[in-house]
Amino acid sequence: MIGRVHSIDTFSTLDGPGIRTVIFMQGCHLRCKYCHNPDTWKIKSPSSKEYSVDELMKIIKRGKTYFEASDGGITFSGGEPLLQYKFIKEIFIRCREEKISTAFDSSLYISSNKIIDLLPYTDLILADIKQMDNKKSLYLTGSSNLLNLRNIELINEYGIPLWIRYVVVPGWTDASGDIKKMAHFAAGLSSVERIDLLPYHSLGMHKWEILGLKYQLQDTIPPAQSLLQKLSKEISAISGKTVFIQ
Ligand code: SF4
Repeated sequence: MIGRVHSIDTFSTLDGPGIRTVIFMQGCHLRCKYCHNPDTWKIKSPSSKEYSVDELMKIIKRGKTYFEASDGGITFSGGEPLLQYKFIKEIFIRCREEKISTAFDSSLYISSNKIIDLLPYTDLILADIKQMDNKKSLYLTGSSNLLNLRNIELINEYGIPLWIRYVVVPGWTDASGDIKKMAHFAAGLSSVERIDLLPYHSLGMHKWEILGLKYQLQDTIPPAQSLLQKLSKEISAISGKTVFIQ
């Protein structure tokens, strides 16, 4: 079995606990207006690289000492990693044999059956919430949020630890009503261990230009620390969860 990989980061501390090897998979069917990796969208891209399970496991196993010392492991990210969930399942099964902790970071805009298939081999899920308001989600990502939210509830029912990730985009995702809805939603999910607020940035804007795509958020400025602190306190007070600003 072959996986299409955009890139690999062998020393990440931002994508789950401890030191992690993060595998960014190629392909995504969403079109988030703030995406900083539009070069991951096409599943077949000349800049991506194909790996067999054995090839990727060889790279993953090189990090075992760091994983063990830091309670780290591997995280599949993207793009949307679950477009290649069969490949991920094979890697996760091998990681179980090697006692390597497994996680994936997903938009969860994907068929629930595929997620259920992966859960027995998954230690942690970093679950994006793009927008709680369905109309705004359609506009922001090109897709309805119904599958995303339903899948988060499903994972919660299975008891797999969840970290919610929410990108704070001024004027797009920071409205008080949307923030409150997200916090109330998280409050009802016992598997949610923490909520990460990710401040919007425009570092990927040049990639849109290179790909000949029109970037629509050129006038959006990153959120101020004071706004992030305010949202963090509000979300924490409503949800009862620990909120981190990344
Ligand atoms: S889900 Fe991630 S990779 Fe896909 S468009 Fe949105 S931000 Fe980009």
